This record gives sequence, structure tokens and C-alpha cells, in this order.
Amino acid sequence: MLAPSDKPGLVTLLEEEGPREECAVFGIYGGSEASAHTALGLHALQHRGQEATGIVSFDGKRFNAQRGVGEVGAVLNNEEVIKRLTGYAAIGHNRYATTGEGAVHNIQPLFAEFAFGGFAIAHNGNLTNARALRRRLVEGGSLFQSTTDTEVIVHLIARSVRSTLVDRLIDALHHVEGAYSLVALSQKKLIGVRDPLGIRPLVLGKLGDAHILASETCAFDIIGAEFVRDVAPGELLVIDESGVQSLFPFAKQPSRFCVFEYIYFARPDSVMEGRGVYGARKRIGEVLAAESHPENGADVVVPVPDSGVPAAIGYAAASGVPFEYGIIRNHYVGRTFIEPTAQIRHLGVKLKHNPNRSIVAGKRIILVDDSIVRGTTSRKIVEMMRSAGAKEIHMRISSPPTANPCYYGIDTPERDELIASRLDPAGIAKEIGVDSLAFISIDGLYEAMGKGNRDNAAPAFCDACFTGDYPVRLTDRDDGNAGKHDRKSIQQVD
Ligand code: AMP
Repeated sequence: MLAPSDKPGLVTLLEEEGPREECAVFGIYGGSEASAHTALGLHALQHRGQEATGIVSFDGKRFNAQRGVGEVGAVLNNEEVIKRLTGYAAIGHNRYATTGEGAVHNIQPLFAEFAFGGFAIAHNGNLTNARALRRRLVEGGSLFQSTTDTEVIVHLIARSVRSTLVDRLIDALHHVEGAYSLVALSQKKLIGVRDPLGIRPLVLGKLGDAHILASETCAFDIIGAEFVRDVAPGELLVIDESGVQSLFPFAKQPSRFCVFEYIYFARPDSVMEGRGVYGARKRIGEVLAAESHPENGADVVVPVPDSGVPAAIGYAAASGVPFEYGIIRNHYVGRTFIEPTAQIRHLGVKLKHNPNRSIVAGKRIILVDDSIVRGTTSRKIVEMMRSAGAKEIHMRISSPPTANPCYYGIDTPERDELIASRLDPAGIAKEIGVDSLAFISIDGLYEAMGKGNRDNAAPAFCDACFTGDYPVRLTDRDDGNAGKHDRKSIQQVD
């Protein structure tokens, strides 16, 4: 499986797979159903990762683990499995990776047996200096078991000379750069931590006496837990039998939460930073309509389902043009079926979507989607609308053009594969075959998020995919590893 290299084995491993996960994390301390709750939480967070999933629990004596390739329903939806995962504390992870290779050894939570006891960790985000750190650690004798950037943290903990686990973890995190929302489990504690800019989400909840950490609030809803608050950027929570302790071990910095979580990635029923994702998407649609509704009007607003729906509802409300389902989505298309080859992926859009002719034929359509990445989806959908008799197609996108790759945990292709990096909106319009195309402006996006215009000196969000303004330095990329960030496919999770 490993790429041929003249370097010794473990260094070869290091070159094999770059940081490329979009993931979900969940952790619970307390109660008698820790693993069952974790499995349910992971199920609610399935949209953040479908490639693999796992749980590690602790029962006072032993750690118990179950990990597997596939969705939560396939790997953890089994009473026997949950019964084996005994304990009052557990953490879990859904992995979203672009390569199947090496999937088994990369499935999280990772587990390590330290001198001070067992330790499990699960990570959402990407470290931007993982390769540099890993090279140093390997040269210093560390033996890596996986190719995930997360394992770097484990080795840094092992090397730390601090005495307590929490201090060792803090020590380790002072070396890493990038985006991370982590949950970790030791024999005594559940720990949650968000990187200093808070790029990826992490929320705190409560169910009876149990404390819970999760990527999104929808994971609380499924188990009837109450949302307490967001974990703050740079905050580290230590949860044990004495309750929740909050530490701020990093120098304070202005937060830069990922705006693409609002646009596409998070579930619409989640609440982030006190803002409902659904409401945010609708508001973006309203601003989009105010910015770019065609002068000659339109007959119908049609969302690209499902991710374009809330923005299309907002667009329709603001423009006064009726919202209709002009595209019907088949919910039974398996992800694995549409992914394996470019040809099948190409077919995938047709398998998944079908035009609703009675709505589309003879109409001037506003077609709303959340983003254009390579342009594959829009090209197919537009073709489909034309074949169903659409008279005019005006595509409206509820994000600015995606012209830059994300290095902080959203899976995007390299720059040269991003259609917006080589063409302006007029060029993209021509290539995808629409009568007009408009993206929300960056200021419009900030306005929709209640922030006024983008403050270029201190933007409220990480918007690097749109602006190229990367808030955490890209050590590995700048060291010449940019090519390792190659994405083979954008996977459809909507
Ligand atoms: P593309 O077909 O490459 O232009 O991708 C755009 C489509 O993929 C849109 O319909 C989005 O809803 C969806 N999308 C955008 N970003 C991602 C992502 N990181 N992972 C999976 N799907 C995405």
C-alpha cells in the first residue's frame, strides 16, 4: 500500500497520507449508557464523516474499543457491540477521508498505553505542521502506528516531561499548528479542547449527571441531552467526577470559526456560536437575492437538494419568487456506490437527482446551491434542468467562489481543480451552461452572519477557501508538501 520511496519504512508512512479528514467527535463522562449514547451521537453526526467510525470506552478497569470501516449503522448498530463497550465514559469519532487505503490503522479514536495509563484521542480538524513534527519525531525514534496527523499529538504527549496528563497534553498542543477540536479519554478524565482560533466546532452538553462533548448540538438532541454552551476557542475542559474544569492554556487570540460550517458542512438543525445553522443559511439566501436577483425576474426558485434548500427558501422569501422542488432527490443512493470511479461519480448525480418536469418545463429558474467546487454537480444539474425544458437558468450560489483549498479540515481539492481558481463567474457560467451565475459577495456573507462588512484587518471567520487569507500558518505546505494535499474526490454528503 505504501508509496515507493528510498526512505526507511516509517518515514515512507509519513509521506503516504496527508492530513485530510473532515470528522465528528463525541465524548461522554457519566451515566450507565456511555457507549450507547456515543453511538447515537455519532449517528447524528454521520454527515461529518462516513468512511469509518469507532468508540473507546473506559469502565474503571479496562479500555474497550470498537472501530470499523463504514457508517455508524454498520459498525456500531449492534447490541452485542455496545454491551462489550462497557463503562461510564466513552469517546467516539466519525472519519471522513478521501482515501480508503490505510483506513483501518487510521480509524479513530487512537489509543496509546503510556507509563501513566491508557489514553484515547479523537480529532476533528487538520494540523498544518503535522509533517514537520512527524519527521522530527520519527528521526527521534518515535514509532508511528498510523498515518493520521492526530498521532503526532500522542507522540508529543509521550515525549513531554510534564508530570500530569493534562499538562502533557497542553505541552503537546503548544507544538502543533492548525485546526483541532479534540476529545480525549484517560483512566480518570474526559478532556475536550479547541484550537486557539476555534476553527472547528465543539459544544458542551449535559444529560442528568453526565457531561457530554460533541462536534454539533444535533448530537445532544438525539439522546435528549441539554446544550450547555460552546467550548470557547482555546479552551480546554477537564471533566471528571468532580465536574467540569475550564482552562485557557494558550495566548488569547480573536476567534476565526469556519464560515463554511454554516454554509454547507454542519447540520441545519445544529446551533453554533449561538446561531442556528438553518437560520444562517436562510439569511444568506435572502442577502444573495438582494444582491443578484435577475433584472427581468424569474418564475421559480429551485434548490439543489438537500444542501441548497435553506438558502433557496431565504432567496424565495426575499425575492417574492415561489420556492418549488424542481429537483427530486433519491435518498436511497448509497455513497459507496457513487464514489469508486470518476465515471460512476459522473453517473452519481443522475442516480441521485431527477428533474420535476411539471415545475421546470418552460420556466425561468433560479437554481440555488451552496457552493461550486469543481463544477461537476452544477454542470450535471444544469444539463438536467435543460433536458426537462427549463427556459432560463440563473444559478445563485450561497457562498463566494471557492478559489482556495482548505487546510483546516474541510475536504477540498487542490487549487488547480477548483473551477473558481481558473475562471471568473462569467467563465464558470459559460462552462456550466447557465444563462447567468452569481455568488454571494464576501461582504454579503458577513452581513448575513450579522457581522457587517468583512473587517479585513480582523475578520470574524476563517474564510480562507474564499479569500486565501489563511489564519494559521501552513508550515507543511510552505515546506513544499502542498502536492501531498491532493484530493481525489469531493464526496457528496448532502
Ligand atoms: P462540485 O460538484 O465539485 O462543484 O461540488 C459542489 C457540490 O458539492 C455542491 O453541491 C456542494 O453541496 C457539495 N460540496 C461542497 N463542498 C463539499 C465538501 N467539502 N464535501 C462534499 N461535498 C461538498
